[in-house]
Amino acid sequence: MNKDKDLDYYVKKFSPKSSSNKLGLNVSRNGGVAPNKPILLLSIIEMVSQGQIIQNQIPLSAELIATFLKLWSHLEAVRKPDIGLPFYHMTSDGFWHYQPKPGFERLIQAKVKIRTPSTIRQTIKYAYLDNNLWEILQNPQERSILTHVLIDSWFRKKTQDIEQLFQVNAFAELQDQLQRTGGKVYQPEELEDEQAVIVRDGAFRTIVITTYNHTCAFCGLQILDANGQNIVDGSHIKPFSQFYDDRIDNGLSLCKNHHWAFDRFWFTINDDYTIIVADNLREESPNAKPMRDMAGDRIILPAQEQYYPRLDSLQWHREEFSRRAA
Ligand SMILES: [Zn+2]
Repeated sequence: MNKDKDLDYYVKKFSPKSSSNKLGLNVSRNGGVAPNKPILLLSIIEMVSQGQIIQNQIPLSAELIATFLKLWSHLEAVRKPDIGLPFYHMTSDGFWHYQPKPGFERLIQAKVKIRTPSTIRQTIKYAYLDNNLWEILQNPQERSILTHVLIDSWFRKKTQDIEQLFQVNAFAELQDQLQRTGGKVYQPEELEDEQAVIVRDGAFRTIVITTYNHTCAFCGLQILDANGQNIVDGSHIKPFSQFYDDRIDNGLSLCKNHHWAFDRFWFTINDDYTIIVADNLREESPNAKPMRDMAGDRIILPAQEQYYPRLDSLQWHREEFSRRAA
């Protein structure tokens, strides 16, 4: 622990740079002050205070993007949000660090500018804060001081109650809304913003996984760790890239292996939800039930019947399956 990096130090760090505050946040002033970094910091503080970030590992998640977009819409009227900019550029402020994914270490060392949300998600496992700053954020009073430093320094004309805004979980609200309506089929023009796409995709996958109680519909595998991470994916039956269909009944919860196999049409599903396995697979599974032995079994279905896989989605998948077998 570095004793000099105390609350006062981070109060200066989060304030604008000036002749009397050389430590201040490096912020682009082209065409007015860009509020990217203050809004990213507020998003992180909100998620720490709401228990959505519980360790000093901050991936560019759908939840973080949803929080950033919510705060942005309240705090910045003119500019368009781009979370990739502060997520990358804050590495120059000294308290924000990158943990690259395996294989991308050299890219980070070479300071390649990784600034779009999708490239950040491909290459960065998570960002993390100085340990001292992380510890400070665990203390509600000190967290509140830093929140007000950010609001007072960067959004002085904004009068809304930030504490109240913090209570709104934008990602959970989107999920609730999609759950109530059964999901959504998108128009291509709704998918032009990369950030919105990541949030949408994250919400769909979370809903599908929850609907299936974190269980693989094919093999029944269910593993959760202490952080709530699990082994299944919320996958699409009709692929999103072709149909933009995020309705819950176009979803299926599958473990990594069976997601891969389903997307390659190694198995498909009948209208009575029984499994059909391709007959051209060579498989050795001495320690597990082989895929071919699952043929004729019923998949594991969600508790609520309205979320059972839709028959036209299953039919599409079976037709592709037959086409590939022919
Ligand atoms: Zn499985």
